[in-house]
Amino acid sequence: MLKTNFENFTSDLNEVLNEFISINCDIQVNGKIVGETFYAEVIIDDKTYNYDYSYTATFPIEKKRLQKRFLKLSLYKALSNFTGVSLPWGALTGIRPTKLAYQQGDNFENFFLNTMLVSQSKTDLIAKILQTQQGIYRKKSGDGDLFVSVPFCPTRCAYCSFISNEISKEKLINGYIDGLLREIEASKKLIKNLRSVYIGGGTPVALSDELFYKLMQGVGKMNVEYTVEAGRPDAITEEKLKIMKEFGVTRVCVNPQTFKDETLLLIGRRHTAKDIMDKFALVRSYGFDVNMDLIAGLPDESLNDFKNSLNVALSLNPENITVHTLCLKSGSKLKESISKLSEGEVSKMVEYSHQRLQDEGFLPYYLYRQKYMAGNLENTGYSKPDKVCVYNVDIMEETADIVANGANAVSKRVTDTGKITRLGAPKDTATYISKVDKLIEEKISLFSE
Ligand code: SF4
Repeated sequence: MLKTNFENFTSDLNEVLNEFISINCDIQVNGKIVGETFYAEVIIDDKTYNYDYSYTATFPIEKKRLQKRFLKLSLYKALSNFTGVSLPWGALTGIRPTKLAYQQGDNFENFFLNTMLVSQSKTDLIAKILQTQQGIYRKKSGDGDLFVSVPFCPTRCAYCSFISNEISKEKLINGYIDGLLREIEASKKLIKNLRSVYIGGGTPVALSDELFYKLMQGVGKMNVEYTVEAGRPDAITEEKLKIMKEFGVTRVCVNPQTFKDETLLLIGRRHTAKDIMDKFALVRSYGFDVNMDLIAGLPDESLNDFKNSLNVALSLNPENITVHTLCLKSGSKLKESISKLSEGEVSKMVEYSHQRLQDEGFLPYYLYRQKYMAGNLENTGYSKPDKVCVYNVDIMEETADIVANGANAVSKRVTDTGKITRLGAPKDTATYISKVDKLIEEKISLFSE
């Protein structure tokens, strides 16, 4: 239980505390300002830690930001001292470390290393990502990406915490696609400079051929980066690939997560590693670029299992490989069945992938962190040179409008000053269908401001 005299920051401080999963005792975090110094005191069990920071801030918002930072830092330092553990991301808890690095400018490495106590290897990783993003990252008024959500899948993966429904049990698909097409039609008019199109969810290719064609026709032919999630090989068919080709899709996601058959069974996939390889070859025969996802830290997987999966993925030679760290949120079936993953082992998997992928000529190009991640690590996307997925950069760096369509999709309006306004759609399909026309009006108003 954590208590603080800065109650507004209780949840921020709990984020730091939650990174130290072994801690289970009462903690008090107090701060006070005297002149131009901020004094912090952290009491853990019978130990007291004191820190002070010199402090000047002109505006109240800046003052608040610094106070929060000092308290988080103090808690991190005290916990690190108490447990003897230093975390790779130090006192940083945010989802987007790259965005913070851009905000800090040329001085970001010093800020990461010496202020936020981020490790040298994670700071170097961020520096490499910023380098890879050169030429792709940009802030230009009117830039936007079109996202379409199809929240249906062949079966539900055991680690899934999305809203995706098993397609055979979904009764409202036709109504959903009709509403979605109306929303897409309105959305297309709201983007001045279209940067990319991404149809995800879900597994859009789990739709029938007829509905999939109708959806692609609604989106229309595009001449920008155009990605379709075909994550599950059990839903990839030749007919779907032909339709994608007809409408100008450039990139297809084929997501193995692992190439170990026993794990695929355990996580609720009804296909084998061989099925993935066969479908990969089929996708390639149509000339699409391929994005692949792997997960480090899947249940019962050793470092060698992960190495093997990465090696198989590399032998297939996709353009992008994203290495996720298993993230178990409430809502996932696996949450209850796994006691505790070996953090050291997951960390070795992530380190191995980082080295191996770069040795093979892949460049890290986007990164994000989530709560509940194994080992407090991160998800990192790697790309072959000149094959960066623009959509992934835009969604992570929040530099362009995201005009999102479908249930649970969140649109983001990004102003020239960087202010972000979000508009979320209802999560379940029935509510989405009943509210889509109102949602379209709200969206037109948001993006016309
Ligand atoms: S494919 Fe993705 S969205 Fe679908 S059930 Fe699996 S994890 Fe969830």
